[in-house]
Amino acid sequence: MTENRSHSGLPPDSHADVTASEVASYAYCAKAWHLRYVMEREPSRVASVRQEAGVVAHETHGSRVGRLVWLEGRAAVVHHRSASRRRATPCGCAPMAPGRDGRKVSLLRYVAIGLAAGGLLGALAVYLALRWYRQRTGFAVGGQGSGRIVASDTGVEESVLLRDPQLGLRGRPDYLLEFEVAGHPLFVPLELKPGRRSRRIYESDALQLAAYLIALRATTKDAAATFGYLRYATGTFKVGLTSELERRVSAIVQAIRAGRSAATVSRSHSIVQRCVNCSVRAHCDEALG
Ligand code: SF4
Repeated sequence: MTENRSHSGLPPDSHADVTASEVASYAYCAKAWHLRYVMEREPSRVASVRQEAGVVAHETHGSRVGRLVWLEGRAAVVHHRSASRRRATPCGCAPMAPGRDGRKVSLLRYVAIGLAAGGLLGALAVYLALRWYRQRTGFAVGGQGSGRIVASDTGVEESVLLRDPQLGLRGRPDYLLEFEVAGHPLFVPLELKPGRRSRRIYESDALQLAAYLIALRATTKDAAATFGYLRYATGTFKVGLTSELERRVSAIVQAIRAGRSAATVSRSHSIVQRCVNCSVRAHCDEALG
């Protein structure tokens, strides 16, 4: 998610920080970053529509994850109840009071069967809903081997500011997951790119995630993971914080800091397709294609 919208609660000394979103923008094209963040040029109508669609997609994902978390909670309660019922009645049947006559016993039996059938239907509905939300969000919240969401920028939880004050880098990932490894917490960022349909990771996305990982390490120290996840519409990628990625993020942060006081910044690539898809192409005098 972009971080150039205002967030309350920023530390007073963080306003000159470079954001992870800026790192991604600069990696796409230095000139596009300058036009957008320094010259404050308006993005094209198409880009604005695409951006709005991205915001809606993030919110939709957040509300689906919220429902998934709620359903996980319900499923855990149902599982706990049925386990206690099984413990109370080793045969797995509903307990039945001894009746004085056959009619009363059979009535109770019908009630018990009805309740059991209703319970089964309810469990099936929860199971199907869980499956649907898991597929749609890519999450298996609370499931075995999955992380717990501890922060989010999509409305599921409070968002978290990750910050490396020494490098002057900050960001709020779409999700921060907590895993437990050998009794210790491990925090892992996850960034959504719901509009991406690709089998390969975009370079700018990998650098944005690397920026989060660097800021995460400075924020949570030993509990920080050295990898994170990128979730595209077509699948989820795991990205490790390599020394090469770290070096490039650091170089971009320095370049952004220098570029903020520059009158102009030159194009940093020779890829025609980037210019074709560029949101500030209309303001650019170096566009390709
Ligand atoms: S049109 Fe091309 S060169 Fe110009 S800002 Fe966009 S990506 Fe960069």
